[in-house]
Amino acid sequence: MTQMKRRLRLLFLAATLAAFGIILSQFYWVYYNYSVSKTNFINTANYALQKSIDAYQLGHNKLPTSLDYKDPSLTVFMRTIPSQDSLAFDTPSVKRRFSAEFMTVAVDTNSLEQIRGLIARLVSQEKHSEINADTLTIFFHEALLKNGITDKFRITISPNPKHPPSKEEIAELVYFHRSPVLIRAELLKPNQFILRHNLLSALISCLLILLCAGSLFYMWRIIRSQMRLDSMKTDFINNVTHELRTPITILKASTEAMISFGAGEDPESLRRYLETNSTVLDGMNDNVERILDFSKWENKAPAPNIEPVDLPRLVFGIVGRFAPAATTPIKYRIGVEEVMTDANMLETILSNLLDNGLKYGGPEIQIDAASLKNGWYMTISDNGGNIPPQSLPYIFDKFYRAQTGDLHEVKGYGLGLAQVRQLVTGLGGSITVKSVTGKDTVFTITFTSHE
Ligand code: ADP
Repeated sequence: MTQMKRRLRLLFLAATLAAFGIILSQFYWVYYNYSVSKTNFINTANYALQKSIDAYQLGHNKLPTSLDYKDPSLTVFMRTIPSQDSLAFDTPSVKRRFSAEFMTVAVDTNSLEQIRGLIARLVSQEKHSEINADTLTIFFHEALLKNGITDKFRITISPNPKHPPSKEEIAELVYFHRSPVLIRAELLKPNQFILRHNLLSALISCLLILLCAGSLFYMWRIIRSQMRLDSMKTDFINNVTHELRTPITILKASTEAMISFGAGEDPESLRRYLETNSTVLDGMNDNVERILDFSKWENKAPAPNIEPVDLPRLVFGIVGRFAPAATTPIKYRIGVEEVMTDANMLETILSNLLDNGLKYGGPEIQIDAASLKNGWYMTISDNGGNIPPQSLPYIFDKFYRAQTGDLHEVKGYGLGLAQVRQLVTGLGGSITVKSVTGKDTVFTITFTSHE
């Protein structure tokens, strides 16, 4: 038992560690996913910004027509200083000699775009032309669309920037403007971007985390109920053995008396011994029947035979059966006349609850019944109030017996309340219990129709 407990605890610990590992890695994954998608987004947007600035320049500056020819070419005026002696450079008074020539160079079509962009920049730099933010925004959104980005941006142009743009920014430093400027693009709805790019992965992670935590909780409950079942199984075996040992001892003693001490020869003694044996055997038979009934009903509850039942009469009959042997007075106040129920099932329910009240309860038992707006209820209370609060959730479980000090003084298999719940549910009702230490223990059964 203890070894099993230890093993289950270890298993639970391992599962907890694994679950925490999964949860942590999920958090990390969501964060990693977010930063990667953010970096990718910034890089793509920066690339689009560069492209849109290029496109703007190309659209706003005249380029040499020769670049549009079938065989594009560029004519450059080349000025070269043949002898580059440092003295000639540093001393303005020294006349510098230079040679100059026009040269037409063919432009490779593969690098045509680059050269067009470069010349557009150079021309615009030379002309100190200004950039119009609104027009650039249109170019930028077009370039973004080509890269699959539909988010809207605001473009701002700040002159004479003090710092170069940071890695987190979508910005470009340009020098061809009248003075150096920083062209910055800001997302109009940054939250939307975060949501769109991370919602799915965050949802999947949340789901996994919930699944992990849920299964862990479920596992913990299973382990606990397994441990409880295990100890209840031991209790049950002890109870059954105990219950069997007493009648066996009586039967053995009376049989020996009949065989060895000549009781068999005296018809009067023989009759008494046989009567005792028969009562003992009836008791054993009852116990076996109860256990068998329970396991039979556990698999398939009997269908109730619903009919009008005179409740005061039924209660009167049951109390009358218990009263002669009971040392505790049983009082009742039945405020309902006729109810629709299965009389046999209700009798078993009431008998079990009364039996418990007599076994475990205080010096008085009270049965009350009253009608409700759409049904009726019955309470069976005793002033024993000794079900420990931690046992309350389990007392309707099969084989469960509350761990009170004098448990083994009172006979039982822990099946009574399990059977009661089974029957109440079978009749479409519900049962609850309240027990305040030193005060009352109250079982309430309620039957309501949902029409
Ligand atoms: P059993 O009586 O065979 O032990 P039950 O299923 O009828 O099994 O009851 C389960 C446990 O609930 C009992 O062992 C007892 O500890 C507790 N119990 C039930 N009824 C009462 C009551 N009226 N007062 C105090 N304890 C009760």
